[in-house]
Amino acid sequence: MTPAFLAAMGGLGFKRNDDFNGANSEGYGPRQGTIANGRRVSTATAYLRPASQRSNLAILTNTSASEILIDNRRAIGVEVVNASGKRRLAARREVIVAGGAILSPQLLMLSGIGGHEELRSVGIEVKHHLPGVGANYHDHLAVAVLMEMRNTESYGISWRAAPRDILICSSMQCFAAGPWPATCSRQPASYVRSPALEAGYSSGVSGGSPQSKHIPFPLGHGFAISIVGLYPKSRGRVRLASSDPRLHPWWIRSCSVIRTT
Ligand SMILES: Cc1cc2nc3c(=O)[nH]c(=O)nc-3n(C[C@H](O)[C@H](O)[C@H](O)COP(=O)(O)OP(=O)(O)OC[C@H]3O[C@@H](n4cnc5c(N)ncnc54)[C@H](O)[C@@H]3O)c2cc1C
Repeated sequence: MTPAFLAAMGGLGFKRNDDFNGANSEGYGPRQGTIANGRRVSTATAYLRPASQRSNLAILTNTSASEILIDNRRAIGVEVVNASGKRRLAARREVIVAGGAILSPQLLMLSGIGGHEELRSVGIEVKHHLPGVGANYHDHLAVAVLMEMRNTESYGISWRAAPRDILICSSMQCFAAGPWPATCSRQPASYVRSPALEAGYSSGVSGGSPQSKHIPFPLGHGFAISIVGLYPKSRGRVRLASSDPRLHPWWIRSCSVIRTT
């Protein structure tokens, strides 16, 4: 099915692109992913685990950074918290914040780095007025067109409707098929100008999951083409719900508007 999708895109006159992370992302081709030995891997598996024995690395699990310690506008360490309580760790050189798109701004704001109105509203002392922290979030709306298939060539399966033997058979097929499709992520994607859309493709349908109330797939096999708007006009913001680091921040999303010109 994957080669068929690629051939169809070529047949429609679109450009082939084997490196979406290269100089130009336009075109169609196989997706790139973090894959080793035919399986998707996380950052921890790919980078952290091999380095875990290094004498200059200590990994603290089940531990959260609750504050970046700041002295005279300079980050000098972090406060961390776990089941045994709070600890302060001093930085000899620098503090790198890599908490992800939502929790990085939360940690910065908890540490007094953010817009002063935002910080004062939850009682946090402003150490550096930086209103851009937590601002200017872009979302990409996706609309999946799901197509049911009568044959059983897809990897995916409708969890709700599929008999268990088909599900197992399909998963084993996924592993047996070798590194390329077994990752289930080398599925093709395309970026086409109309005006700016990503058309992703999946050779399996997950829309019939137990959570999904609307999309029954009696046969359990199919494919999906997701149309993704890449240039939304609307912007969102992450705000602090409280000065308590254990509480998740608010994720405020404004109504999405896709630019059509
Ligand atoms: C649904 C979805 C689909 C996506 N699909 C794709 C895709 O197809 N291709 C692609 O390239 N990207 C995709 N992305 C984006 C990709 O996942 C992110 O860009 C990437 O994971 C960011 O990596 P990161 O290391 O910056 O942050 P994250 O992967 O978010 O890692 C941050 C880590 O920090 C930890 N953390 C946070 N706060 C604290 C704290 N205070 N103390 C201690 N630890 C903390 C978190 O628990 C987490 O483990 C997708 C994202 C989502 C949500």
